[in-house]
Amino acid sequence: MFIEKAPEIDATPVKHGMWVYDDFDGDGLDYQCSACGRYTRQASNYCPNCGAKMDLED
Ligand SMILES: [Zn+2]
Repeated sequence: MFIEKAPEIDATPVKHGMWVYDDFDGDGLDYQCSACGRYTRQASNYCPNCGAKMDLED
């Protein structure tokens, strides 16, 4: 019996987003992910929550 392997998908979909400055608790350190809405204090290149790449311009 011949078993045909399913083609591997090597391109993972990359979400794109940007950090939206939103000082929701008044300490001046908060950013919100435009892709998932998660707040963070460190605007890194990728969202640590949803993995969106932060390369969008506003
Ligand atoms: Zn996110």
